[in-house]
Amino acid sequence: MLPGGSPPLGGTLSGTMRCPLCATEDTRVIDSRPAEGGGAIRRRRECLVCGERFTTFERPIVVATVVKRSGRREPFESEKVRRGLESALAGRPVPDGTVDDIVARIEASARGGSALVTSDELGRAVLAELRDLDEVAYLRFASVYKEFQGASDFEREAAALDRRDNDAPVL
Ligand SMILES: [Zn+2]
Repeated sequence: MLPGGSPPLGGTLSGTMRCPLCATEDTRVIDSRPAEGGGAIRRRRECLVCGERFTTFERPIVVATVVKRSGRREPFESEKVRRGLESALAGRPVPDGTVDDIVARIEASARGGSALVTSDELGRAVLAELRDLDEVAYLRFASVYKEFQGASDFEREAAALDRRDNDAPVL
């Protein structure tokens, strides 16, 4: 696996990885095989100094692309989801860590599906999280997401919340 000769100027040998035990970079790959159904590569490595053997996984990092209503595309940014949630939940009585948990779930779902996700899908996912968490936060977020024009929009949405039952999604 290791190329012969000197590494390119300023670079490192491809395939090397610092030994987790003694921190030398003098390690080699002794086995390499597909893992996780072919979505990853598992490598066994051996330290040439202390003999430690360790495993690494190589996985592609998929950054979901968000398709806006305008058709414009931009990379998924969990910070935007976080900001939307924080303003919707500002001052609301929810446990610490709630925003983190929701952001993590939204991010996982954005990455778990196809690499393309629409801003509408993201908005609906956030609304689904808020619906059962906090009615005020739900209405605040819905007002931005659904571009409420006036009080009647709030009333309609609040009525829909009251009407809901567990089997019938509002959206
Ligand atoms: Zn070592």
